[in-house]
Amino acid sequence: MSDSNQAPAPIPPIPVNEPLLDGREKQYLLECIETGWISSEGPFVARFEQAFAARVGRKHGIAVANGSVALDAAVVALGIGPGDEVIVPTFTIISCAAAIVRAGAVPVVVDSDPLTWNMDLDQVEARITPRTKAIMAVHIYGLPTDMLRLQAIADRHGLAIIEDAAEAHGLTCAGRPCGSFGNLSTFSFYPNKHITTGEGGMIVTDDDALAERCRSLRNLCFQPARRFVHEELGWNFRLTNLQAALGVAQLERLDEFVPIKRRMGAAYTQRLSDLPGVQLPLPRTDYADNIYWVFGVVLGPEHDMDAAAAMKKLGEYRIGTRPFFWPMHEQPVFHKMGLLKGESHPVAENIARRGFYVPSGLALTEAQIDRVSTVMHEVFGKS
Ligand SMILES: *Cc1c(COP(=O)(O)O)cnc(C)c1O
Repeated sequence: MSDSNQAPAPIPPIPVNEPLLDGREKQYLLECIETGWISSEGPFVARFEQAFAARVGRKHGIAVANGSVALDAAVVALGIGPGDEVIVPTFTIISCAAAIVRAGAVPVVVDSDPLTWNMDLDQVEARITPRTKAIMAVHIYGLPTDMLRLQAIADRHGLAIIEDAAEAHGLTCAGRPCGSFGNLSTFSFYPNKHITTGEGGMIVTDDDALAERCRSLRNLCFQPARRFVHEELGWNFRLTNLQAALGVAQLERLDEFVPIKRRMGAAYTQRLSDLPGVQLPLPRTDYADNIYWVFGVVLGPEHDMDAAAAMKKLGEYRIGTRPFFWPMHEQPVFHKMGLLKGESHPVAENIARRGFYVPSGLALTEAQIDRVSTVMHEVFGKS
């Protein structure tokens, strides 16, 4: 006889990320459909660009298809190409180094700070050579790179800064918005970022000429006077009006979203700080308060499990996780190209192997945070 009717209801899974789309998203999308403006020509694009640039205190916003191509355009707009080197953290997403490599330049990578997981600024100057053209700073997981310190280094050596602020909407550094520092700064609006357009990105800058370059590169380098005659190769990196409509609605709520993430970070920190040998994100540094883009943890050497085993274990409890970034100097794709071979950056190597993040989306409830924390204690409590 089957007793399946008596089986307990399965525990619902806790996804690693779930966005909040309960503002004016539907209203603005409907407006696109009703007016027929769905391509990049529609009015929400300029509205999103202006509102977003203003939010980070910049003169220009150039909306693009995603945060990865924002970096491609930024590198090329700065005139970086063959023979040039760009300094970049090894602990980041592939998009950063890929943009440098695709432009024909060489990524020169720097290890991470063990506490903030951002690029270790003590190691940057030793990597500068006569070929260095720019430093690509990346704000990691909710804490920024110390941009005032990095700016001083860049100024001393006459280098441009590309600021990848894809994870940093609403984050400040020394009281200034992230995204306000680079010669060009970039954002992503992928659904796991603080605000989302499904897919989408933005380049912001105060420099009129660089803004114009980015606009041109985004739009196939069509020329105003002779549209189909090209002096340069660009891309179609345009954002649609539909995506921008979502962006305008999401941006209206950024000031609500940041405190939600901070409460999540505080709740996890309170519940997990007694776990032996588990490193949690720093709540703050001298120059910034964490916005907890994601809540990452790093397992200390006293734990037998590495991140892969830990994530598998949490998966058995139906808790979604994601691994940390894998360092650029350990990427097979770059080794095959003869790049970044034989380098050692021990901090990044360790956090890549021992680090992962737990459910961190905007829709996460207090009860879900409790369950994740209880399971974490069960799994990692006895080291
Ligand atoms: C998400 C992210 C990107 C890429 O953005 P996409 O929109 O997914 O292409 C780039 N850099 C960092 C640091 C990111 O977190």
